[in-house]
Amino acid sequence: MNWFSKDVISDRVTRIYEPHVHKFFQANMFHVVGKDADLVIDFGMGLDHLRSALDLRSGKPLVAVATHVHVDHVGSFHEFDIRLGHVAEAEAFARMPDAETLAEYFRKQPGALTAAAPTGMTPEAYKISPAPLTRILAENDVIDIGDASYMVLHLPGHSPGSIGLLDQRTGEFFSGDAIYEGGLVDDLPGCDIEAYKVTMKRLSELDVGVVHGGHGAWFGRDRLREIATNYLASREA
Ligand SMILES: [Zn+2]
Ligand SMILES: [Zn+2]
Repeated sequence: MNWFSKDVISDRVTRIYEPHVHKFFQANMFHVVGKDADLVIDFGMGLDHLRSALDLRSGKPLVAVATHVHVDHVGSFHEFDIRLGHVAEAEAFARMPDAETLAEYFRKQPGALTAAAPTGMTPEAYKISPAPLTRILAENDVIDIGDASYMVLHLPGHSPGSIGLLDQRTGEFFSGDAIYEGGLVDDLPGCDIEAYKVTMKRLSELDVGVVHGGHGAWFGRDRLREIATNYLASREA
């Protein structure tokens, strides 16, 4: 069985997801092929080996970037040697405590999986392998893969160390769970609505092209504005 499903978005971007994981925890992972290095953004639940499921055509370095430390984004992070994430969650990546990953919500989720995990891991016994960062990111840092480079935007609110990666040349934007198509989450432990409002204001003014969110389908700049504006209206009402 293929645990991962793939959706080829372009000749350089593939979206990967786990169809047998409950919808709430079914997050997007992205493989971006670069000239000098490949980028992997987010790592699902860790219920199968992600790295060997990637289509790696060369011996280029693989740069793994976690948009934040939540359970549905970091399961396979430990499989990669070069691991990047935001400073605000650096300690959490190194230990993967429930308080920050929110893994307990997955353990208690009825119908958490619709097929047995290839690793044999059951939801009840679910654990995340620690993945200490090898490069600690902050606002304005740049990740260069040769023919594209991504600026790190710190977008707190959904979680303290949530980041987005923006290619300012093309407008390609990987937004993690800061903004995506679907119900946004600002009421779990670690969420901060005041910080999220500042992030949403910033996102509503951001010059982007295609947005690849942490969940759901990609969208464009008008929809980004609409989602951000709707959020602000709902929280200011
Ligand atoms: Zn999240
Ligand atoms: Zn998520």
